[in-house]
Amino acid sequence: MATPDVLSADPPRLSRDDAREVARGTFGVEGSASALVSERDQNFLVTEPAGSAWILKISNAAEDPAVVEMEVAAIEHVARVDPALPVPVARRAREGGPVASVTVGGAPHLVRLLPALPGANRAPTDLGMEAVREIGTVVARLGLALRSFFHSAAGRAIAWDQKQLPALRRHAALVEDARRRAQLERILDRFAARVVPAWPKLRAQVIHNDVTLDNLLLDADGHVTGIVDFGDMAHTALMLDVPASLQSLVRDRGDVFAVADAFLDGYTALLPLEPLEADLLGDLLAGRMAQTILISAWRTGQYPDNAYITGWAEPAWALLDQLEAVGLDQAGRRLAALARLSGASAARPSVVTDEDLVGRRQRVLGSALSPLTYRQPLHLVRGRGAWMFDPAGRGYLDAYNNVPVVGHAHPRVAAAIASQAATLNTNTRYLHASVVELAERIVASMPPGLDTVMFVNSGSEANDLAWRLATTASGGRGGVVTRWAYHGVTAAIADLSPSEWPRGERPAHVETIDPPDGYRGRYRDVADPAQPAGADMRAALDRLGERNVAPAALYLDTLFTADGIFSPPAALVAAWVAELRAAGGLFVADEVQAGHGRSGGGLWAFADWGLAPDIVTLGKPMGNGHPIAAVVTRAEVVNRLAAETEFFSTFGGNPVACAAALAVLDVIGDDGLVEHAAREGARLRDALQRLAERHSAIGDVRGRGLMTGVELVSDPLGRTPDGRLAAAVKDAMRERGVLIGTTGRDGNVLKIRPPLVIAPEEVDLIVTTLEDALTAAEAAAS
Ligand code: PMP
Repeated sequence: MATPDVLSADPPRLSRDDAREVARGTFGVEGSASALVSERDQNFLVTEPAGSAWILKISNAAEDPAVVEMEVAAIEHVARVDPALPVPVARRAREGGPVASVTVGGAPHLVRLLPALPGANRAPTDLGMEAVREIGTVVARLGLALRSFFHSAAGRAIAWDQKQLPALRRHAALVEDARRRAQLERILDRFAARVVPAWPKLRAQVIHNDVTLDNLLLDADGHVTGIVDFGDMAHTALMLDVPASLQSLVRDRGDVFAVADAFLDGYTALLPLEPLEADLLGDLLAGRMAQTILISAWRTGQYPDNAYITGWAEPAWALLDQLEAVGLDQAGRRLAALARLSGASAARPSVVTDEDLVGRRQRVLGSALSPLTYRQPLHLVRGRGAWMFDPAGRGYLDAYNNVPVVGHAHPRVAAAIASQAATLNTNTRYLHASVVELAERIVASMPPGLDTVMFVNSGSEANDLAWRLATTASGGRGGVVTRWAYHGVTAAIADLSPSEWPRGERPAHVETIDPPDGYRGRYRDVADPAQPAGADMRAALDRLGERNVAPAALYLDTLFTADGIFSPPAALVAAWVAELRAAGGLFVADEVQAGHGRSGGGLWAFADWGLAPDIVTLGKPMGNGHPIAAVVTRAEVVNRLAAETEFFSTFGGNPVACAAALAVLDVIGDDGLVEHAAREGARLRDALQRLAERHSAIGDVRGRGLMTGVELVSDPLGRTPDGRLAAAVKDAMRERGVLIGTTGRDGNVLKIRPPLVIAPEEVDLIVTTLEDALTAAEAAAS
């Protein structure tokens, strides 16, 4: 005869008096008894007059004594291995052992008396992310403590073990709503296809399997004070503890990935997931929901009045809906990426003071290094999305950095880097698929003809290589740039960066043109027929010619960032480029700042001008912070260099860098960040325009996508730049927790250039903080 299933058998039905009598007679504990809820056992709270409280647990008559023995032994084992874990070690009965048997209503029942641990059950919506992270740590510690535990009863088949999910499928017919039933079948099919074949490869041991908020006690500060109910223990996949806890922690919350991030941060810091486990996490979370729904449908049929059981299904459907809204593949990928971070974001506590660091930095990094930003320098140790955090945990909204284009420490990018770094990193003299794939994807994003990609490690190097290509292909050696441009640090490119020229000096082979400052009417050579378009470019070329210098290249930062952020009409750029090409020069579009979606009009800002550059350079955001940069040009331009020499960069195009760059392109595409940049940038500038109506110091608001310039002036009519006010506003913003920059020759243009993932409410925060900071800075200046 098959053993009766504990989920099929009726729970015991003791009265409170019976319970009180069992506590007294069997365990020698005298007190009042009150009933607690349970799925299949019967539990009473027994309170002694002196205040000690106990849980009297009367097992289901169908419960296998070996299983009860296992639970008690497991708890004792955990208490021995990790004594700081708050688990309820059973009190010895008068007879000596921790488990006794009593006969109630003619049937024998096993009973135990466990200490009632302090703390209370908390709702998921009450928990902050620190508490969620701690729960992740506790679940991992419990898994580790049970690693060395075994009991023969752990091999029993229990419906709450996800290994049994395929067997529960027979209850799907009980789900009446056809749409819901189809949804469930989809999850079960997916489980059968993806999880079942992989099951034998998963790490297995005895686990708690049910560390939910129902079975956790927490104090008022969110610290765990008790782990109870070991009744679902099984020898099964170790990682099943993760979906079991997550399901409970995300209940009634919309932020499943944020909760998963915090939980996994804690869990994986102690117990990193293996790659296969990380890959299956999404399916096992969905599987846990399907399991809950199926068990609920089956058990509701048996106990329609047990609200504890009937309440399970709705939150499980809600979470399934949330995951399916993202797409199960996509949700699985995001969860896998979070799992792979392996507690990496656990910021180590800072042991040095900022003052100490400032002094040491000065001594060892030299006087030429760019100074620290802000009067009160920022010390940052962690980032997420558009936020960075200091050692004390204070968050700063990053509205300045364009390098983390898809957000700080983006899980997909971090996982791609970590996984490739743990596999192989080498160079382009060996065959590797990632560098070829990346080059092909870049070429596919460019206008026809730009068919060749060369990889380097920084924007400066890309511009430097572009200079070699341009000088070789054109035979010229002269450069034209805008008046306050920045293109990089190498000797050749510092010559092409007027913002870096020592005062009063100008390399003889370089000429400048005015940036296209629409605020000050510098489009006149387009608008005014008396001044033919491109006249300033022709004049610059003539000045070079007077010195016997033929042009090699015009470099334009396609958003004119260092000049003060401008967006010239396409006709003006077309006229410049026509003049240049007529003189034999090549047009280099420097997309190091503006590329990768920032302009909101596509991946590359030059595309809005409707012309194909001869060379495009990429960098900064390309690896979201991991060094990688590139030059894109026509094969014939490269062939001219190849005729003279070959090109090799040790790190350029290495597999780790390419993995980062591919992940960045994936995220920009999958998350629709170009469209997001266009939408949020437009909204930001609208709000800033309204601010300008109230503040005469705002002379102009301009930009494209998520690159915005706010020009501050002391005299609105004369448009006199006010660099001091801009510096004061930047500092006042920092004090209020929002980071922006300043730019332009006079440093009077506020540069607002956040990661593209910035959320609408974070954009609103920039505007309200700017209003506050501007008001404060104006008051301080007057
Ligand atoms: N070009 C432009 C337009 C830039 O803004 C920069 C960096 N600010 C560079 C090139 C140089 O890039 P890197 O600092 O990575 O060498």
